[in-house]
Amino acid sequence: MDPQPCVLLKYGEIALKGRNRGWFESHLLRSVEHAFSGSGDEVRIRWRQGVLAVSCPALSPEELAERARTVIGIRVVQPGLRVNKTPEAAASAAVSLLRERCERLGLQRPSFAIRARRRHKRFPMNSDKLASFVGAQVCADLDLPVNLNHPNVEVEVEVDRHEVFVSADKQRGQGGLPVGSSGHVVVLLSGGYDSPVAAYRAMRRGLRCEFVHFTGAPYTGPSSTYKAYALVRELSRFQPEVSLHTVPVGNAQRALAVSGAGEAQIVAQRRLFVRAAETLAKRLGAEALVTGDSLGQVSSQTLSNMGTIDNACSLPILRPLVGWDKEEIMTEAGRIGTGEISKLPDEDCCTLILPPTVATHTTPEQLSKIEGRVALDELVDKLLAEVQLLRPGQADPVASCAR
Ligand code: ATP
Ligand code: MG
Repeated sequence: MDPQPCVLLKYGEIALKGRNRGWFESHLLRSVEHAFSGSGDEVRIRWRQGVLAVSCPALSPEELAERARTVIGIRVVQPGLRVNKTPEAAASAAVSLLRERCERLGLQRPSFAIRARRRHKRFPMNSDKLASFVGAQVCADLDLPVNLNHPNVEVEVEVDRHEVFVSADKQRGQGGLPVGSSGHVVVLLSGGYDSPVAAYRAMRRGLRCEFVHFTGAPYTGPSSTYKAYALVRELSRFQPEVSLHTVPVGNAQRALAVSGAGEAQIVAQRRLFVRAAETLAKRLGAEALVTGDSLGQVSSQTLSNMGTIDNACSLPILRPLVGWDKEEIMTEAGRIGTGEISKLPDEDCCTLILPPTVATHTTPEQLSKIEGRVALDELVDKLLAEVQLLRPGQADPVASCAR
């Protein structure tokens, strides 16, 4: 066969320890298929021990690597070539990859090292001999110096059952655990910076995320829904199949204000959100909620208020960003692509009714009293009758409407 561009995706054995390997790998495979979907039917995914090799004639090596870098659960991404299972084919692939890499990086006579390994042992040379053979060819053709300890460029030669993979580039993957391998959660998604990052961190721990966004309708326009939609669409790069549930809470917010929530208005709204999200989660079979709270970031996010909010919900509330500061969150938002969307203006329901001061200390008893005046259970049922389901990034984005 002719040398074929491919990308190696490595997930490492450590992540598999103590876990059900088949379970882990089936979720990883779904994510890999998702990352390469829409690139024609010629995508080939080959399983090797601890490694996935993906090739697709329609994609350039850069595009292959770019897509591979979105796969959560993959630690290392190595673009390279898939060649015949002979030392000569491996050597000539190493020469062409090194030449290309030197040109691309503008390196003048970089030092190099060849690292060879055989996942499949039936091969005419052992790993050391193969590395020397390939190295000698590189010296002869490119006249580059060998440096085994601190090379400028490292070339990996990996012998497999049917082929040899050669690569001169090692890129960092997303890491983490494959989406879906740890369970299923509902993320409370606002239009800000925090909750999309929290969702991404949840995905990175193997959680499949569905999203709920509360809007101030009928008192606010659709801008916050557009924003939530765009955020979920951006996050859909990391997870196959995403869904966004939107819930209009403007009237419920008013009811809480009229019942005298006062300084506790924001906490009362949060408790309403988690109650509604919990009911939705149970319908969807999700096991926990996720929020973008970070301790002390705003007055509503004190330890006392978090406790009062937790008390309204029987499912665990996960807060992946609890110890992060805003700068760290913004940097991460930029890296995962949600920052540009979060910075757009919108009409956020939380600004609809803002008390002059926000209580930093609340108790469940205090909130239960307020909720008793508005018949909260009925209110939550009413809200959920108005849920709209959207599927960002899919062929039919408006999946259903309960109205
Ligand atoms: P973010 O940047 O995510 O908006 P924030 O700093 O604005 O966070 P808050 O507005 O206090 O923080 O919200 C705390 C958390 O409550 C959010 O991270 C999100 O999980 C949830 N939340 C807030 N508003 C909404 C909303 N309109 N719909 C769904 N969840 C929300
Ligand atoms: Mg917010």
